Formats: sequence, C-alpha cells, structure tokens
Amino acid sequence: MTRTILITGASRGIGRAVAIQCGRRGWSVGVNYAGNEQAAMATVTAIEAAGGKAIAIQGDVAVESDVIRMFDATEKAFGPITGVVNNAGIVAPGMKLVDMTAERFARMFAVNVTGAYLVARETARRMGTDRGGPHGPNLGGSLVNLSSAAARLGSPNEYVDYAGSKGAIDTMTIGLSKELAPVGIRVNAIRPGLIDTEIHASGGEPGRAFRLASMVPLARPGTADEVANAILFLLSDESAYITGALLDVSGGR
Ligand code: NAP
Repeated sequence: MTRTILITGASRGIGRAVAIQCGRRGWSVGVNYAGNEQAAMATVTAIEAAGGKAIAIQGDVAVESDVIRMFDATEKAFGPITGVVNNAGIVAPGMKLVDMTAERFARMFAVNVTGAYLVARETARRMGTDRGGPHGPNLGGSLVNLSSAAARLGSPNEYVDYAGSKGAIDTMTIGLSKELAPVGIRVNAIRPGLIDTEIHASGGEPGRAFRLASMVPLARPGTADEVANAILFLLSDESAYITGALLDVSGGR
C-alpha cells in the first residue's frame, strides 16, 4: 500500500535515513529541512533512486506558517498524508545549566517543544478520521515523535535544557495517543541513545557519540539506520496495535 509521509528535518541524520527507507517501500515523502538545501536535494535524489517519490520543503518547525506550508506542499504533491515523523530537533553546546542564557532556552524550547507540538497539532487536523483522514476508523495514520534517552537520563553537565525539551515530547506522546486514538491516529515516540549523526558536531563535539560509547551496554553508538528501522515499524501496519509507546533505541543505555 502506498503512503505519503512527511518527515521534519529529513535533510540529514535520522530523518534522512527514515526518508530513504520510506523510498525503498515505494512511498512518497515530504522532505522538510531548515537551511541545508543541498543536503535536502541529496535526500530527494536518494529516495527517488530507492523507488519512492519526494519533494524538498524548506521550513522552520518553530514557525507556525512554515509548518502549515510543509503539510500543504506534501498533500498537494502526493495526496493525503498517512504518516508524520516529528523529527527536527536541535542541541546546543554542552554546559551546566548555571551558565545557560535565556536566548538558548528560548530557541531550544521553540524548536524542540513548540515545533514538535505544532507538527503534532497539524497532524491531528489533517490525519484524523474526524477531519476526513485517509483511512477507515480501524486503520488510522501514524505520528512518530523523536524524543531521546536524555528525557530519562537528564543529561547533567551537558544538556539539561535539551533533556527537558524531550521530556515534554514523552508527555505529549502519552496524552496525545489517548486523545487521537478515537480518530484513528496512533502516536508513539522513539528515544534514541547515542547515535552517530552530525547533531553532536552542532553541539560542539563531533566525536561525542564515540567518546561516551563505553557507557552503552552494547558498547558502541547506534546508526541512523538502526533508529530508522524502529521508526518504519511504528509507521507501518506491523505496529497497528501500538500507541502511546516510548521505544528506547539506545543499545541498552
Ligand atoms: P541532525 O543530524 O543534526 O539533523 C537535524 C535535522 O533537523 C536536519 O535535517 C536539519 O535541517 C533539521 N532541522 C534543524 N532545526 C530545524 C528546524 N528548526 N526546522 C526544521 N528542520 C530543522 O539530527 P539527528 O541526530 O538526526 O536528530 C534527529 C532527532 O533525533 C532530533 O529530534 C534529536 O533530538 C533526536 N535524537 C538524536 C540523537 C542522536 O544521538 N543523534 C539522540 C537522541 C535523540 P538542515 O539540514 O537544513 O540543517
């Protein structure tokens, strides 16, 4: 069955890996990105090479009109959206909370919390069977939120702000899964651990996932594809009876 999936932050990292796996299933993908157009176009090319269809859509998840526009563009290109991966997220340089600025808090929560909530709201407005959603009442769409192991570890001395932003995603997932179950939308979250992507470089330490690998029971960082495998499961009908789950993909950490 063909699907239309919108993935926020799909130009790089975990979002890109999910997008390419969707392409392998022949699905159509809205590839949102913030600023790296070249990377987004490379993702589109990779999806098409894998057998799917794709468009790139620039937009900041923290801006309401951008979020609405990315849903509109995906629907216009490929028809009703049947799955959303709420993936875009940021970190900031590791430091203790005592040294963090108000500007840092504002951006962290704007992208990771307000952005994720806007994407979730738009998903509810478009995919719910009460809003003309594409499926019958027993086969709704799927929203997959990207939380983090940080939500339960707290990330002391590094990212207490980021960890809190992901705690909000866990809580939203639990509440929204109950709110949207009657309208056929399943809502689950993935909590990745240390995954080898460029997010660590954006926090100032490209080698962070490898530096901390000894703390992981499986003794290595995970790959973006290993996280994508779990996301594809939650997007697909193989997980039809799963909603409200917080799934750790963290090598046992
Ligand atoms: P990444 O490699 O840094 O990629 C981030 C992606 O998000 C890029 O496509 C980027 O677009 C996009 N993005 C950033 N800010 C955005 C915004 N305001 N609006 C729209 N798109 C935006 O990140 P990642 O490691 O794949 O992480 C993906 C998700 O998994 C995040 O929510 C992250 O918190 C979570 N996670 C990651 C890890 C890990 O170890 N990697 C662990 C736990 C949780 P551009 O290319 O245009 O900049």
